Amino acid sequence: MGPIAGAQEELDRLGRALRSQLSMMIDDLTPGSDLSLLFLNEPRGVDGHEPPRYQYAAEFFTGKRPAHVSAADIASRAAALLTSAGWRQSTTTSQENPGRKPRIVVTGRHDNGCTIEIHITNDNDPVPPSKVWFRGRTPAMALREPEEFRWPEPIRTAETVTSGHVLCYECDGLGRCPECGGRVWVPDETRGRENCRACRRTRVCLICRGAAQFPISELSSYQRGYYPELDR
Ligand SMILES: [Zn+2]
Ligand SMILES: [Zn+2]
Repeated sequence: MGPIAGAQEELDRLGRALRSQLSMMIDDLTPGSDLSLLFLNEPRGVDGHEPPRYQYAAEFFTGKRPAHVSAADIASRAAALLTSAGWRQSTTTSQENPGRKPRIVVTGRHDNGCTIEIHITNDNDPVPPSKVWFRGRTPAMALREPEEFRWPEPIRTAETVTSGHVLCYECDGLGRCPECGGRVWVPDETRGRENCRACRRTRVCLICRGAAQFPISELSSYQRGYYPELDR
């Protein structure tokens, strides 16, 4: 359940390495860019899976392509810079959105799990000055061991239900939201977690409002339908 030894240090180290590689490339490919705008200060959570994973990421730092340099020249220079720094790289032209301008995308992958993408608007982009976008990410890393959720103890049970009361038919005495157990989220395969729709973040069972039981005298005829034993 505790922190994973060395994980934070390793993530910080990767963040610094990514920043220095990105800074070098931005300086080289789009000289004059303001590197103080390259935000790589805090690792951020990537999704809600347990344990949470964090990464340093720079999303689309924007630089200007120098006027005399073609998009193809920027792409091959970017590829050469990546290769000489030990990154595997590949270049593609992205035209998947017909309504948008085509881009050349140079992608670099490092053995340490970091990725860099450089997007360059193509030469047939009619609007000068053309832009170059830089994007970088460290791998997403868990910083602590997974925590197991402990389902809460019911507030009322058949043994502890108050005399003259019945257990809530929705949560069966749990009191907490029977869907999420009071966590306000439920596991989701893709994003890790999803807001609990059953309690709308209130944590409690919305039928008994957390009381876990009902006085028999106050049951509506609809509610009584859940307790056929009362009418025997
Ligand atoms: Zn309830
Ligand atoms: Zn809930």
